[in-house]
Amino acid sequence: MKPLQEALLAWYRANRRPLPWRGERDPYRILVAEVLLQQTRVEQAIPYYRRFLERFPTLRALGEASLEEVLWVWQGAGYYRRAVYLHRLAREVEALPQGYEALRRLPGLGPYTAAALASMAFGERVAAVDGNVRRVISRLYALENPSPKAVWTLAQGLVPPEDPGEWNQAVMELGATVCRPRGPACPSCPLLPFCRGREDPGRYPGARRREVREERLAALVLWGRQGVYLERLTGRFPGLYGVPLFPLEALPQRVQAWGVRPLEAGEVVHALTHRRLRVRVYVAPWDGEGEDPRERPLPKLMEKVLRQAEAFLAHQGIGTLPHA
Ligand code: SF4
Repeated sequence: MKPLQEALLAWYRANRRPLPWRGERDPYRILVAEVLLQQTRVEQAIPYYRRFLERFPTLRALGEASLEEVLWVWQGAGYYRRAVYLHRLAREVEALPQGYEALRRLPGLGPYTAAALASMAFGERVAAVDGNVRRVISRLYALENPSPKAVWTLAQGLVPPEDPGEWNQAVMELGATVCRPRGPACPSCPLLPFCRGREDPGRYPGARRREVREERLAALVLWGRQGVYLERLTGRFPGLYGVPLFPLEALPQRVQAWGVRPLEAGEVVHALTHRRLRVRVYVAPWDGEGEDPRERPLPKLMEKVLRQAEAFLAHQGIGTLPHA
């Protein structure tokens, strides 16, 4: 093993954070962790990881559950497409195949996740390149805006034959805790002697700015005799429930279609990765039954909308929503 690899692995063994999926060899459990970590920070992901595996300990158990139950257990972790994806995969395959190429052929499994599984579960010598690894490699070789292929080739060249899964985790851990996007801790980095970008790490890999777009929406909280009107959502919250949500400019038509006279109850803002949703909340008494939102899986945005409606009603002395 080369000195660079020895240095990083020694650091990793002494400093890695004790995470529940560390050292895991079961490909299904690794998959759940990787899918969660795609859009959820490590500390937040831990309780969801535990809860999900407690309820669905195997791929088979997941495939046998209903989508609604899966979404219910996923509730709070956000980005529900991930849960829909896992559930669909569990219904389509009996077991996760061994090997990078076979994993890549599974629908929706990208190169990073396939490489993470292949290396960690099956010991295949393949580099798993996520944002952390891209940053470490770019700095280590002083590369500005390197192509994905260039990063992968360099990352692949570093993967040792013994325990490639541990190596991949070590590079990711370094990127997450030492070679951070802002303020890398170079003096305490095990790769300092080997790093070509250490004089000016902020230059590498160069900014990849993504614009955050804002969407202006309206949410209509219809307040019936037994609860709130809820419908099954599609689009970015497939399979979950919520009050009607639509572009703000469609409000007049929607209000007319429902035949209600809503009151404006304030606004909630909800941030997604590349989008900010600015949702104006309207409440209206409604001549229907409605249901208790606590009995349905709701995305976080809908929880915020209902809290806003509730606060408005209380503040105005109008009453409370039947669920709250
Ligand atoms: S020395 Fe600094 S820039 Fe280089 S890998 Fe370590 S933390 Fe990153």
